[in-house]
Amino acid sequence: MHCVLPNTCCIALVVYFEKMASEPMSAEYAKSAKSACKGCMKNIAKGELRIGFVGKANFGTTAWYHYDCIWKNYENLKSIDSSKTTKSIVLGYSDLKEDEKTKLDADLPKYCKEAAEKAVAAAKERPLPMATEYAKSAKSSCKGCSKGIDKGALRVGFTGKANFGATAWYHYDCIWKDNENLKSIDCSKAAEKIIKGYSDLQDKDQDKLEADLLKHCSKPPAEKRKSDASKDGPTAAKKSK
Ligand SMILES: [Zn+2]
Ligand SMILES: [Zn+2]
Repeated sequence: MHCVLPNTCCIALVVYFEKMASEPMSAEYAKSAKSACKGCMKNIAKGELRIGFVGKANFGTTAWYHYDCIWKNYENLKSIDSSKTTKSIVLGYSDLKEDEKTKLDADLPKYCKEAAEKAVAAAKERPLPMATEYAKSAKSSCKGCSKGIDKGALRVGFTGKANFGATAWYHYDCIWKDNENLKSIDCSKAAEKIIKGYSDLQDKDQDKLEADLLKHCSKPPAEKRKSDASKDGPTAAKKSK
C-alpha cells in the first residue's frame, strides 16, 4: 500500500495515521522459531532479531527476514522514505537493545538510499532494441529466411522479439527486409545506442551496419527529428499540409 498524502498539508492527518501504526517496517526478537525468512527461506531462531516489511506477506501480515537478509530486498526498500527517523519507520524500534538501534540507524538509510539509486539506474538502462554479433554456434536460424546462420557469421537481431523474450536473429542481409520491426527503431541515436554489441564488431562491419541502419530505418536522423517533436502536440493533424 502506498501513502499518497501530500507532503505539506494534512499534517494532522499524517500524525493520526502514524498513531495507527503506519510504520512500513517492523523489528522484534522472534517470539518463536516458527517464522521463515522471506529472503533466504531459512527459519529465524527464537529470540533472534528479525526485521520485516509490514503488510507485505500473505493476508497483509509482516514479511519477516533475518537482519542481514532484509537489505537485499531492494524492491521493498526503495519505497521507504529514509529521510525519516528510524523510529518512525520501524515499529518496535524502541524495544530494541541499544547496540541494535545504533546498527539499524546506520544500516537503514544506507540500504534504502542504495535501493533507490538502483531503481533509478534500472529505469534509465532500457534494453537496446537491436543486437549484433558473430554467431557463436551454427544453432540459430534466421527469422527472415528460416535458414541456419553459420557459426562466425555476422548476425543482427531485434532484442526481445523471439520466444520468451529472446533475440530474434537474422542473416545480415535478411534483417533489412523486416520492415515491421525496423519501423520502431529510432535512428536519430548513434548506432551503439541502438545495437547491443555494435562496438565489438570489426570496423568494416560497424561502418556497413551503421550505413544500412540509416538507409532502412524509417525515422529520419537527428536534424529532421526536431521538427518532428512538435508533431506530437495537438497540431499533429494539420502538419501533413
Ligand atoms: Zn534469511
Ligand atoms: Zn536469412
